[in-house]
Amino acid sequence: MSKYWSDFVTQLEPYIPGEQPCTTNIVKLNTNENPYGPSPVAIAAMEAALNQDLRLYPPSKADGLKQVIADYYSLDSNQIFVGNGSDEVLAHVFNGLLKQSAPLLFPDITYSFYTVFCGLYGIDYKVIPLSGDLSIDVADYQQPNGGIIFPNPNAPTGRLLETDSIEQLLKANRDSVIVIDEAYIDFGGQSAVELIDHYPNLLVVQTMSKSRSLAGMRIGYAMGSVELIEGLERVKNSFNSYPLGHLQIAAGIAAFEDKDYFNKTCDRIIKDREELSKDLKQLGFTVLPSAANFVFVHHAQHSAEAMAAYFRGLGIIVRHFKQPRINSFLRITVGTESQNQQLLTAVCEFLK
Ligand SMILES: *Cc1c(COP(=O)(O)O)cnc(C)c1O
Repeated sequence: MSKYWSDFVTQLEPYIPGEQPCTTNIVKLNTNENPYGPSPVAIAAMEAALNQDLRLYPPSKADGLKQVIADYYSLDSNQIFVGNGSDEVLAHVFNGLLKQSAPLLFPDITYSFYTVFCGLYGIDYKVIPLSGDLSIDVADYQQPNGGIIFPNPNAPTGRLLETDSIEQLLKANRDSVIVIDEAYIDFGGQSAVELIDHYPNLLVVQTMSKSRSLAGMRIGYAMGSVELIEGLERVKNSFNSYPLGHLQIAAGIAAFEDKDYFNKTCDRIIKDREELSKDLKQLGFTVLPSAANFVFVHHAQHSAEAMAAYFRGLGIIVRHFKQPRINSFLRITVGTESQNQQLLTAVCEFLK
């Protein structure tokens, strides 16, 4: 608290990110980063961009990056919006598209940044409880709204909603913007991008932080109808014309071009997720079906908080949310095979 703060700043409740420890010998399974590095092609592209051109502002429209994303998804480049991480993209989406007179709808258990953005932009919202099995039932969203947003797969549950259900939601809500936050879609889901042609109110948001292993570069993007994208450009150009620097643009383009590396690392993570899920089940955990690069688990006999603390003592960090309904769960990022093995060893020791 400070007397220099405005009333607005005083009342804000900022997002609390997962911990980023400085020590290196930690098994870090708490923030869903990719255990494999970025594509070597992306690293080389960044190295090549480290030159005198950095004295120049980057292209404010990041056209090259928009074009590769557009090509990948068979869209037009004016259907792509890019920003400094999908958190920034989402901020502009909340500000520019989701601040309406009717309340914004999102699940009670979801990405916790959504309520923070609502606080920042003064957006009225209503949370819709997930079903008993922690899944989204689109029928619960059939009520007056100024927009709907949720991640698919949802975070932190990992549960996937099929494209049919998303289409049902779009059909029932043609007058408000529906935002699907696909931060984890590459780990086993089908993107809603294919519906964009038919639904001008659909916005799909993705990030290069998870499946493309570039969390440290901060690159996010949104895809939708030209009118939605134009609205976002208006907000962005009233805030920061150059959200992506030369290195980010170079990395992003290369990461999309290196399809082999992308497919190989995603496949590996999916395979290891299934392995980890199976092993945790054998140790007595309930594991929600996950289409993401993490698993959401609980053990009927043991406190999640106590387990997280025990793992931490062994240098393994996982995420526990002190939140009603999911207090007894842990969210564990799928790491390398060796990291997953270390986690399983720690679990066995704890259960002994
Ligand atoms: C990680 C994540 C983001 C943020 O991604 P950045 O591009 O790194 O800002 C957004 N939404 C969800 C659901 C996420 O898990």
